[in-house]
Amino acid sequence: MKALTQAAIRKSFINASRSQTAAVNFPADFDEVDWENTDQYGWRDHKMPQRSYLVTELDGKPVTILLRAPELVSAGRKAMCALCEDLEDNDDVYLFVAPKAGASGKNGNSVGTLIHSAFSCSRNVRADVLPTPIHPDPELVKAERIRKLAERTAQFIQKVRS
Ligand SMILES: [Zn+2]
Repeated sequence: MKALTQAAIRKSFINASRSQTAAVNFPADFDEVDWENTDQYGWRDHKMPQRSYLVTELDGKPVTILLRAPELVSAGRKAMCALCEDLEDNDDVYLFVAPKAGASGKNGNSVGTLIHSAFSCSRNVRADVLPTPIHPDPELVKAERIRKLAERTAQFIQKVRS
């Protein structure tokens, strides 16, 4: 995705109040984000650990959602991240819940999904893959994984929006 500033992200929230948006704390290493190799960027608010945020690009514009109180899914059993579907990464998978946008969210409606707690998804889909007889070209497999991550992230954001 295109490089984003903190101000652009604050302006792009679809399911947060003005005060929640103003209160967002960015990670200390925000300036080092490798935007080019990032399809969706997420982080946990270090001052309000019950809040996390996820930004992606839809139709060339940033869209950010507020995520609530992550819960560890079935401790001991590995859950699959619904966005990158990677099973190799050791990062825990949490159930993140996003209040819906607009009036629906104000009425308490929300939508949840399983996501890697450290938002490692963009890195996971770029991990090296071994060629197999069915998928002999690792670069094609990687490109498809990257495409799918962007697609699933966009679908989740549509659910928050609708
Ligand atoms: Zn993931």
